[in-house]
Amino acid sequence: MHTREEASRRIAELVEILRENSRRYYVDNAPTMSDQEYDFLMHELEGLEAEYPEFALPDSPTRTVGSDLDSPVGPNAELQTGKDFVKRAHRYPMLSLGNTYSIEEVEEFAARADKALEDAFTYCCELKFDGTAICLTYRGGALVQALTRGDGEQGDDVTENVRRIANIPQTLHGDFPEEFEIRGEILMPYASFEALNAEREDIGEAPFANPRNAASGSLKLGDPEEVGRRGLWCTLYHIPAQSVPFATHDEALTKAASWGLPVSEHRAICKDIEGIRSFISHWDIARRSLPYATDGIVIKINELSAQRALGYTAKSPRWAVAYKFKAEQACTELQSIDFQVGRTGAVTPVANLSPVQLGGTTVKRATLVNEDQIAALDIRVGDFVYVEKGGEIIPKITSVNLALRPAEAVPVAFPAVCPDCGTPLVKQEGEAKWFCPNRATCPTQIKGRLLHFIGRKAMNVLAGEATVDQLFDAGLASTPADLYGISIYQLMSLEGWQEKSSQRFLDSLAKTVEVPFERVLFALGIRFVGESTARDIARHFGSIDAIAAASREQLLEVPEVGDVIAGSVYDYMHEEANLREIERLKAVGLQFSTGAAAEALSAALEGKTIVISGNFSISRDAMKELIVAHGGKCTSGVTGSTSFLLAGTKPGPEKIRKCGQLGIPVVSEEEFRAMIPSPASAPQEETQLSLF
Ligand code: NAD
Repeated sequence: MHTREEASRRIAELVEILRENSRRYYVDNAPTMSDQEYDFLMHELEGLEAEYPEFALPDSPTRTVGSDLDSPVGPNAELQTGKDFVKRAHRYPMLSLGNTYSIEEVEEFAARADKALEDAFTYCCELKFDGTAICLTYRGGALVQALTRGDGEQGDDVTENVRRIANIPQTLHGDFPEEFEIRGEILMPYASFEALNAEREDIGEAPFANPRNAASGSLKLGDPEEVGRRGLWCTLYHIPAQSVPFATHDEALTKAASWGLPVSEHRAICKDIEGIRSFISHWDIARRSLPYATDGIVIKINELSAQRALGYTAKSPRWAVAYKFKAEQACTELQSIDFQVGRTGAVTPVANLSPVQLGGTTVKRATLVNEDQIAALDIRVGDFVYVEKGGEIIPKITSVNLALRPAEAVPVAFPAVCPDCGTPLVKQEGEAKWFCPNRATCPTQIKGRLLHFIGRKAMNVLAGEATVDQLFDAGLASTPADLYGISIYQLMSLEGWQEKSSQRFLDSLAKTVEVPFERVLFALGIRFVGESTARDIARHFGSIDAIAAASREQLLEVPEVGDVIAGSVYDYMHEEANLREIERLKAVGLQFSTGAAAEALSAALEGKTIVISGNFSISRDAMKELIVAHGGKCTSGVTGSTSFLLAGTKPGPEKIRKCGQLGIPVVSEEEFRAMIPSPASAPQEETQLSLF
């Protein structure tokens, strides 16, 4: 039971956790929690909002579709290149599905439909494919458009990428309608997934967490040829009832298959809950031998007239429900434990397991998180343990099968010293992990930092782990700045390096002067500063000097930055060795400010604290940068000290309400543009383009 106050606090907390994880899942394609954990938190929020509707936000995650849009919306969309796709509106909204992990709730769904529908109806049960949703449009039998789900109302136009997916026909045959939409899922079969991850690990890139993330990340690549090489696959399962004249969903799918479209045969028409139950229990086992991932069963009312009668909520159709399978578990022997040192010095215990099949892939290693976790689960070497896949690529050990514990199972002894450099490990207050404090000379940390610096999402140098090992072992580099002092002759003296490969490495290093500041900041490897945090911090402060001069409180003003990140950045910027390294990197010409575009354009907004909300003719980040360039400051929440709320289309209703309560002016984009010098005197357009 909650008091009103506790409920309000918990609702706010859940909204924040769900939003953050939704972004990691849909935009970054790098979830850090399991789907089941996410769904349980969502159900908790639904329960609290039902009990305390007064605290439910109009744009609560329970009412909105998780968005995969990651790039700006607006008139310049057509000019965007690479990863920034043109946005297009969906003709019919692309929604989510209500989901449940319990068969009782499927029964309730069936009972509700029974009550609401007068005529007899049936269910079409299908697999729930675990990929990323796609909406295809065919005109005159030719594929003309492919949109991602986006935010449900508009999606990214990924037509050119979709054309490279082998089983999607460019043209149809038979009696297809002149124009229609068909929706489905883009998947990455396990075989392609494993091959892709092996390749990524080879070149030192982080592997994808699961086939869903790999499919969704691959679909949004800027290079269609590369998309073609990723082995993606499509299955289609829905034609919006408005666009075709069929009587049932099943009939529509059968017709679509006859036109040459890839529709799964694994579906069944069920008359009642018994039929649904047996479909579920069959596929709970049978899905394990499918070549692609499924995470449940979708139960749809088959008759399109009944679907129309039931309609939709803001987030999902009332005529369908997804029954999700619980995360798969496997039991296997824990053979030994490695203690791995990361680039930040954190020591992570990793279990080596007897290989076991789990969720379509072979699992050989599992994370044990930290010492407390090992103690809590009383894990011993030689034990039979249960492993489960969460959001991470490496599965977790969730429990021990004590009945199978051998007499000789050995309790885990956590090392007292760094397994790599022998320095005594330390544990900081409030942290569960042990750290090797030897930042300066611990080889694994040094190599980890170099590898992070050259990584694709950081400086994107053509090299991987093997090169870093060679350069470090030869004494040529122990910090990123050292890389820039290496000569072609030094490289050619290393084993396996020819003049051509050496020159290629140096050329790609030379190109890093073009890498924008936000990625340079990420490349520095400051603890807790991931790609998107680095972007937020870079755009907020505009230069490394401003970041170095910032107090903890000023760092906290950056949206999404809390105490932990602010503390980490502050500490980093107050360490002599780091400042020296930054100076050396400045000297080789790396970008340590957002560049001319973000330099002060005017002082028109000096002293103004501005909150922005909604969509603008330029991206939100570009808008923030424009404000900063004109001397203003951006903060995330409306408070008494906010000068005005800059509201685009669809601003947050909560923010508007708060402005009303506090008497804070709400300013439109047009009014805002009138406050700053016009583009003729300030190169606004360039500011905008440089950001995309
Ligand atoms: P969903 O994946 O639960 O269900 C809706 C989707 O199912 C549709 O959009 C469609 O793409 C897909 N689908 C597959 N087979 C289908 C079929 N036969 N018929 C119809 N649709 C089919 O919902 P969602 O809105 O895409 O995503 C929400 C889910 O994503 C959450 O429930 C959660 O499990 C997961 N998620 C996880 C995290 C995390 O951090 N792990 C974060 C956000 C969301």
